[in-house]
Amino acid sequence: MNAGDLEARWVAPNYSPLPVTLVEGEGAWVVDDEGRRYLDLLSAYSALNFGHRHPRLVAVAQAQLGRLTLTSRAFRNDQLGPFAEALAELCGKDMVLPMNTGAEAVETALKLARRWGYQVKGVAPDRAQVVVCDGNFHGRTTTIVGFSSDPSSRDGFGPFTPGFVSVPFGDAAALRAAITDDTVGFLVEPVQGEAGVIVPPDGYLREVREICSSAGVLLLADEIQSGLGRTGRTFACDHEDVVPDVYILGKALGGGIVPLSAVVADASVLGVLTAGTHGSTFGGNPLACAVGREVLALLSTGELQARATKLGDHLATRLAELEGPALTAVRVRGLWAGVDFGPAVPSGRAVCEQLLARGVLAKDTHGSTVRLAPPLVIEESDLDLALDILGEISTELAAM
Ligand SMILES: *Cc1c(COP(=O)(O)O)cnc(C)c1O
Repeated sequence: MNAGDLEARWVAPNYSPLPVTLVEGEGAWVVDDEGRRYLDLLSAYSALNFGHRHPRLVAVAQAQLGRLTLTSRAFRNDQLGPFAEALAELCGKDMVLPMNTGAEAVETALKLARRWGYQVKGVAPDRAQVVVCDGNFHGRTTTIVGFSSDPSSRDGFGPFTPGFVSVPFGDAAALRAAITDDTVGFLVEPVQGEAGVIVPPDGYLREVREICSSAGVLLLADEIQSGLGRTGRTFACDHEDVVPDVYILGKALGGGIVPLSAVVADASVLGVLTAGTHGSTFGGNPLACAVGREVLALLSTGELQARATKLGDHLATRLAELEGPALTAVRVRGLWAGVDFGPAVPSGRAVCEQLLARGVLAKDTHGSTVRLAPPLVIEESDLDLALDILGEISTELAAM
């Protein structure tokens, strides 16, 4: 059996990957086991914002591999401190709690909000409530899927953790109405990624900020997919000059090399997680922190954010030209787009299979939506190539 067949046979069936087996990558390009090249327009759900094997990230990882990879937090290491300082400064916050995956960082933020609620806000024991949004995606743990509105994420995994209420995304009045004296946090994606790149109405995040501040509720921004340059700003919250109480980061933070996530907040919040109350064996490991610090250095000049804005404007213009009977709606924020296909098109998956056949990798979400998130380092000519192909496919589908 070849590697793809082995994967299909020996790996649990919790994904249905497109039929392509990748063996190499560089920048926005990947190569399969038959030597065919593809443009990667998914970027591992934005974990590859800096492209495959960014030379500066690979160099730092290789250097760190030659020194020290793991200490556990039982001891200090020489990479975590400098990484935490750089990340806290990027976020304008006091401190950082390092974890590994996005879901772990969300779980950390939820534990943090609850403990802050009891110790600082004075909520009665076991009463804490967190408000979330319909259509959210925050990861796959039992607590997180319990407040998902997607049946395929939830069904068969109960009983679920209590203490969550869900309100429509983009509806500030609904948030206001859902808040009680027991509410400790509002967990929100500033742009809903998995839901299909859903951008909230202008002013929503600002209003949310005001509501949370006046009610004494922590604003927990899940910027795992939207953050670190994807939307043309360092954080999607920056588009409305909103500063959340807690940033939840992951994906691109590890440079597409290692899992690295973090919760970033002020000492008045993160300070409640005292020794022994939370942890992770690999969280804050020197290999991940070395890579993470170089990721932050890449973002520190603002060049990649500006590039995402410029290429994103181009993406928006070209996608608008493709709108028609097949490609019915487009939402763009920075270099990130949700593209909806109409009822004439069999499925988003079918579009992705056609893209694959012509050398473009993308991923459908929620039936008829295709999400586009090229690496921020993509060349404009390569982006155009991919859009030409998407255009051909929409024209063919429209004619069917
Ligand atoms: C991907 C994602 C997560 C979960 O991250 P994992 O690393 O897969 O656990 C959480 N929130 C958002 C917004 C995401 O896009």
